[in-house]
Amino acid sequence: MDISELYEIYTRYPHITTDTRDCPAASIFIALKGEKFDGNMFAASALDKGCAYAVVDEPEYVVEGDGRYILVDDCLKTFQMLAREHRRKFKIPVIGITGTNGKTTTKELLSAVLAMKYKVLCTQGNFNNDVGVPKTLFRLDDTHEIAIVEMGASHPGDIKTLVEIAEPQYGIITNVGKAHLQGFGSFDGVVRTKGELYDFLRAREGSVVFIHNENRYLKDMSHGLTLVGYGTDDDGGVRVCGRVKDCAPYLRFEWKDTAKGEWYLVRTNLIGSYNIYNMLAAACIGLVFGVAPERINEVLERYAPNNNRSQLENTAYNHLIVDAYNANPTSMAAALENFRDMAVAPKMAILGDMRELGEASDAEHQKVVDFIERNGIADTWLVGNEFGKTLTSMRKFCNVDEVVEEIKRKRPEGYYILIKGSNGMKLSRLTEFL
Ligand code: ATP
Ligand code: MG
Repeated sequence: MDISELYEIYTRYPHITTDTRDCPAASIFIALKGEKFDGNMFAASALDKGCAYAVVDEPEYVVEGDGRYILVDDCLKTFQMLAREHRRKFKIPVIGITGTNGKTTTKELLSAVLAMKYKVLCTQGNFNNDVGVPKTLFRLDDTHEIAIVEMGASHPGDIKTLVEIAEPQYGIITNVGKAHLQGFGSFDGVVRTKGELYDFLRAREGSVVFIHNENRYLKDMSHGLTLVGYGTDDDGGVRVCGRVKDCAPYLRFEWKDTAKGEWYLVRTNLIGSYNIYNMLAAACIGLVFGVAPERINEVLERYAPNNNRSQLENTAYNHLIVDAYNANPTSMAAALENFRDMAVAPKMAILGDMRELGEASDAEHQKVVDFIERNGIADTWLVGNEFGKTLTSMRKFCNVDEVVEEIKRKRPEGYYILIKGSNGMKLSRLTEFL
């Protein structure tokens, strides 16, 4: 069955599900394969539970004579192509966001900014992969006026796949840095993969790229594109220009719409000077889509993270900088530099392993340790096997349970504590003990 035929069925049964816990009557089950499960095994159960059709890609799961089974070559591809077909029904601007760090934060900020003027469809949470992007697109309906789609990557070609599904006319790469080196092979691999968004837009007439003007990797890749810049350097080449005022503890910054020349002060609820770029990106795109600068300001001031990203949590005992969702060498360096520069005391850092770095892992963990020693960020605890291999006299813990025991014994009080590590290290658990 080709995609247009399947889409015709979808117009009559307009709910796609990949999960047998969600099988309403007018729905189509598509059997995706996960790490542990093969959705084909659940097709019969999905039909029993009420789905109108089950799309499968293993012939042995089709019950002969039962017209509710639709056999395809590859369910994931079908799921993605059906999402693209759906996206094509909507003649609205679609903005693709990728980058090593700051995608979700930029997306959330931008969604709040654009919501001042439009009905926005936006990726929920961090659903930014080859399943998450189609899921986001299936949520598009006639009420939406603009869409923001976060796109994540851990291997070459990932962004190409995602842009070919979402077909954005607008794009932003927040930055390029070191992450998922295991999958990408090298930093060059990261740059090329993020660049797949630019490649797609280059071939698309009328497309626009929003660019951090001082990022030379992005600039080098941006030939042949229509650019709208933002940055901290007011060299006349940017639409939005900003400067950090202070970071103690929250980021305060000023920005101006260079077309008008007026400056605005923003007192954010975010930790981290690097968040200025996420904020400027949202302001820049907001202006281009006609949101008034005063409204943009209101939104940026109001935005408060609740997703373990750049968040300050004041407990009865300490001030916690919770950045436990994600860690890679670039975001770790940004967080540590920011922490070093924060005019607060006393300071403590609990750092967990940065995962998925492949061969670069030992060296990258050692660089973190060396940076801390050079900069004297007092009292740092290191958690995990990778930090365990570093050469340092800093305190080491095998896992988060050991840290909990030590916190219970030591009961630190009055500290500003940076908590950062890959999500898999589960450092966010520590907040209840600190
Ligand atoms: P993921 O790959 O998990 O989807 P993401 O790109 O969506 O990550 P965020 O979730 O917005 O990024 O932020 C994750 C962490 O990255 C933040 O907590 C912060 O430490 C760091 N970070 C955010 N923005 C930047 C930035 N512009 N530059 C460097 N580091 C950043
Ligand atoms: Mg994200």
